[in-house]
Amino acid sequence: MQRIVIVGAGLAGLRTAEELRRAGYDGELVLVGGEPHLPYDRPPLSKEVLRGERSETTLKPREFFDEKNIELRLGVEAVSVDAERRVVCLADRTQLDYDELVVATGLVPRRIPGLQDLAGVHVLRSIDESLALRGDLAEGKRALIVGAGFIGCELAASMRAGGLDVVLVEPQPAPLASVLGEEIGGLVARLHRAEGVELRSGVGLTSLRGTDRVTGAVLGDGSEVQVDVVAIGVGSLPVTEWLEGSGVELDNGVVCDGVGRTTVPHIWAVGDVAAWQLQVGDRRRVEHWSNAGEQAKILAGALTGTGDDNRVAQVPYFWSDQYDIKIQALGTVAPTDEVHVIKDDGRKFLAYYEREGKLVGVVGGGMAGGVMKMRGKIAAGTPIGEVLEAASA
Ligand SMILES: Cc1cc2nc3c(=O)[nH]c(=O)nc-3n(C[C@H](O)[C@H](O)[C@H](O)COP(=O)(O)OP(=O)(O)OC[C@H]3O[C@@H](n4cnc5c(N)ncnc54)[C@H](O)[C@@H]3O)c2cc1C
Repeated sequence: MQRIVIVGAGLAGLRTAEELRRAGYDGELVLVGGEPHLPYDRPPLSKEVLRGERSETTLKPREFFDEKNIELRLGVEAVSVDAERRVVCLADRTQLDYDELVVATGLVPRRIPGLQDLAGVHVLRSIDESLALRGDLAEGKRALIVGAGFIGCELAASMRAGGLDVVLVEPQPAPLASVLGEEIGGLVARLHRAEGVELRSGVGLTSLRGTDRVTGAVLGDGSEVQVDVVAIGVGSLPVTEWLEGSGVELDNGVVCDGVGRTTVPHIWAVGDVAAWQLQVGDRRRVEHWSNAGEQAKILAGALTGTGDDNRVAQVPYFWSDQYDIKIQALGTVAPTDEVHVIKDDGRKFLAYYEREGKLVGVVGGGMAGGVMKMRGKIAAGTPIGEVLEAASA
């Protein structure tokens, strides 16, 4: 009898377990999760949960794990791996032997070094953090959001929906500029300003005011804002400390080939924590929902020998809901790409991303059809002239 141990009971860990069973693996399957909860979905945490429309986002009921014969070890973290003996050590001192180990430990929010530890200051990755922030918003009137990445922008939209005054600060020239570039960032800035967000670009947080509870913040330009709640969304870090000493190569995540194999035999990695080699382009971590499921399927196929080793998630996709606008990005968009705005009605927009003369990505705000239909053209590396001509026809 074989045993596969998956560490990390989030989306990628769950999907890997499901895909292994689907691929016909019928040996022992153990899913270890540091949180006490059944695997749950994170996208609603900054949206429906924060707005009070949902309070739980469980992906599968407990019976599912019984039916599929997946052993759950929840509320206990893996702390180390002995790759020679093929043993994972858990925080409760149990040792789990494995034949194959899958790392799916995701990310933790980046903290701002030296920032005072005050009540009313939040980060957001887990459901407990989302519910804690929601509880504070019920009392608060004015919120400061630090960082206008996807999480910060979604928080701003959800807080405005709840009637809060929102100050959004971002050291970059525009929201999402480090992902989508300044031009599209400018269109996102316009959306938030139209919704009443006080957006302060080009400025960061310096320090907080308050004794036990936060009452205000000092910004990089010396100005001060009075706030009741602060949410920090300045990026995330891969959870890999527990792999140190295992021999697994780490480089801003777990270094993997194109099917999830790490540099150590019998150890694999998947999801946000894993830096996979893309078939087209470089090795990179993709911190988005669809990627976790796509990688899980490929990894399970490779691990069981039932998959096509060459199948790689070639056209990454992600979305972000902000107000009534769904921002969608397809492809490997980068802030250094040349951007062609195809449509812009003052709120909704569609843009093509060009690199080395080819279409590499499409980003839309409220333009679902215009984005999704370009998947084939992106995968084929279609010359940009061809798609621009078709768009203007
Ligand atoms: C608030 C929020 C909103 C999002 N919205 C979107 C969206 O709109 N669109 C989109 O495409 N993506 C979105 N995402 C990203 C998406 O949720 C992630 O890509 C996805 O959750 C990745 O799954 P994962 O399993 O790799 O990591 P995670 O979901 O982080 O799961 C990792 C799990 O491993 C556990 N763990 C960590 N260390 C250990 C250890 N040592 N031992 C045991 N367990 C451990 C963690 O507790 C966690 O439960 C959002 C993410 C967040 C946080």
